[in-house]
Amino acid sequence: MTQAMNIVVIEDNPMHARLIERLLLGVRQAQYQVQVAGDLATGIAAVEEGGVDLVLLDLMLPDSEGLDSFLRLRSRIDPVPIVILTSMDDMELASHAVESGAQDYLVKGQITGELLSRAVRYAIERVRARAEEWRSPMLRLAHQQFLKAAQIIRLEDNLRQRLLFPQRSQVVTLSYRRDEYTQVETVFGYRVQHVLTMGPTKGGVRFHHGVNLGEVTALAMWMTWKCALMHLPFGGAKGGVRVDPGALSKQELQRLSRRYTAEIIDMIGPDKDIPAPDMGTNEQVMAWMMDTYSEQKGYAVPTVVTGKPVVLGGSKGRKEATGQGVVYVVEEAARDRGWDLSERTAVVQGFGNVGYHAARFLSELGVKVRAVSDVEGGVYREDGLDIEGLARHVEEAGTVVGFEGADRVTNQELLEIPCDVLVPAALENQITARNAGELRCRLIAEGANGPTTTEADEILADRGITVLPDLLANAGGVTVSYFEWVQGTQNMMWSLKEVNQRLRQLLQRAYRRVVDRAEAGGTDLRTAALIAGVERVCEAKLIRGLFP
Ligand code: GLU
Repeated sequence: MTQAMNIVVIEDNPMHARLIERLLLGVRQAQYQVQVAGDLATGIAAVEEGGVDLVLLDLMLPDSEGLDSFLRLRSRIDPVPIVILTSMDDMELASHAVESGAQDYLVKGQITGELLSRAVRYAIERVRARAEEWRSPMLRLAHQQFLKAAQIIRLEDNLRQRLLFPQRSQVVTLSYRRDEYTQVETVFGYRVQHVLTMGPTKGGVRFHHGVNLGEVTALAMWMTWKCALMHLPFGGAKGGVRVDPGALSKQELQRLSRRYTAEIIDMIGPDKDIPAPDMGTNEQVMAWMMDTYSEQKGYAVPTVVTGKPVVLGGSKGRKEATGQGVVYVVEEAARDRGWDLSERTAVVQGFGNVGYHAARFLSELGVKVRAVSDVEGGVYREDGLDIEGLARHVEEAGTVVGFEGADRVTNQELLEIPCDVLVPAALENQITARNAGELRCRLIAEGANGPTTTEADEILADRGITVLPDLLANAGGVTVSYFEWVQGTQNMMWSLKEVNQRLRQLLQRAYRRVVDRAEAGGTDLRTAALIAGVERVCEAKLIRGLFP
């Protein structure tokens, strides 16, 4: 006999509370003990007595309302999982609660005994499994976005639960030798494969000091939706190592890259899972990964990674592809608005591979790029920066800061500079409720993954600022990765012109799909892009069927 689970239901409507109690007690596969509290204070007191496994919480209570109810409860009872009970009208509130750490939400009119029981069991499992590794604001954002899309399309619960977490994740502890021979450092590495339904999995490898399993999982989920939106025959994956690559010498970086590859070698392969560059990694790291894999196989296997140097079978145009893709998508949006881009201005946050190429291609179209930044800070010139000159300065100085003829700005000030197009191409979590009201742009093209929070999305929508979401705007990278893989597996070589023509065409089609869907469904572009991705994955899952 399994042990009963203790559930506290905080719900002021006695009819609803009774219904939930009845549903839980009627479930056969699990046993529940249910306590009902009619207000928040009574509910908190009940949980503080101890032994409670989960709380079902209505956000509208006599002594507390809205997100506040959740936050007050959370601060008192962490880490007991909380599932929100919401009405159809308060869905937005419920999704904010998920973003703030609630496990899930259930729409009251749609609850069945089975649905309720699963939500409860899964939420408890999730909190137990999560520990610190899963604690990531990015994962909360990815979950919140997915749950919203799932709700809008009324995704059946079987699929919803299957897609919330990755099919395979590997955590590795790896060691590498510092240049000082006796010193060995041990760090954590990850490879996460979210959906294995539609072909090999695909996604970058990130070297960054903030990486954890939750963050890599969020990024792998986004890769799934991105590949599906673009109609690429891949599921999503991501990898990473929690390390600051800026603190490593080139030799240390090489040893780390090779050891990481060796640790995850059983997971990757041209037909299994194909890594690529992401934050903190580049062509050179891909070359080392390819070499390490090939040494183990005994022959050269260039197709195990994409984003390689061209001389090793990399594709022409891959290095520039993410930035180029951002600009192709901006061109489509500009066409829809009747804009002549040569009369427009832009600001780019980030001057890494994505930010630099986005700035370069924008300025080649005649756009005045007024400001760019990197971790050290930003530079501003009202009439537009000379991007090539700036790139030469960065090569010498290691930062954009100090570029002659430009004023210095902070990263925060940069986001608030008046412009037509803002391209966040650095880190996640940059455009938030704190600064979304201050932005002076008309269009945002997300070069980075997850740069905008849900609250910021709503503020931007109210202010009439359109967001070209990451799933679409930065999909150029993985799309040319796909071209690289196709060229590799067929032993073909395409010209840069061919690559860019195909890239533009795929992005144009995806842009159209997203815009049409947003118009038809009355949603923003992010939700439309997500729904397009989620629906395609679900269709594939259903048609393959569940094994066994
Ligand atoms: N890391 C890139 C992204 O986030 C590209 C992944 C790939 O090329 O596989 O989309």
